[in-house]
Amino acid sequence: MIQKKVCIFGATGVGKTSLTRQFVDSIFNERYHTTIGVKVDKKVLTLGDNDVQLMIWDIEGIDRYCGFNPRYLRGASSFCIVMDRTRAQSLTEGMEILEKARSVSDAPALMVVNKCDLDNEWHWDTDAVNSYANSFQGCFYTSAKTNMNVENMFNKLAKLSL
Ligand code: GDP
Ligand code: MG
Repeated sequence: MIQKKVCIFGATGVGKTSLTRQFVDSIFNERYHTTIGVKVDKKVLTLGDNDVQLMIWDIEGIDRYCGFNPRYLRGASSFCIVMDRTRAQSLTEGMEILEKARSVSDAPALMVVNKCDLDNEWHWDTDAVNSYANSFQGCFYTSAKTNMNVENMFNKLAKLSL
């Protein structure tokens, strides 16, 4: 079976672990458990005629300086950067992470706007968000809580890894 490594990046608290848990174990937890370092999960997906074993690297996001470590990208076939629809700062942090990632990897990347079950309180600048999305190979609006688009997002990440 083909094995592919994919990485989940993003600022702290945007929902990286929640998206991974929802996808791998179909559970969502309101309680916040900080990821220390990296946790690797595996899940087999069928894409057309191929079975692909995804190795999902759920990476810690301590703060804007520690949320990305280039060594985690080594050997990754694709990655996503998760942003939080309710927190404007997480979008600019996500773009900073993309810039750092692009200095070490040209693997395809997805933009993921998570927590879409919640209302955002700040002004949502559609033009800015669309221009961010243009730097990626796709953009998904997700909710780890309601399971909105989670499967679609990981499927696309897997397709991009092939
Ligand atoms: P991480 O630091 O990026 O791994 O973030 P976590 O997955 O640990 O999530 C941080 C917090 O946000 C937790 O309290 C989660 O329950 C919550 N959370 C994550 N995803 C969602 C979502 O899609 N909707 C809502 N309402 N809360 C979420
Ligand atoms: Mg986490």
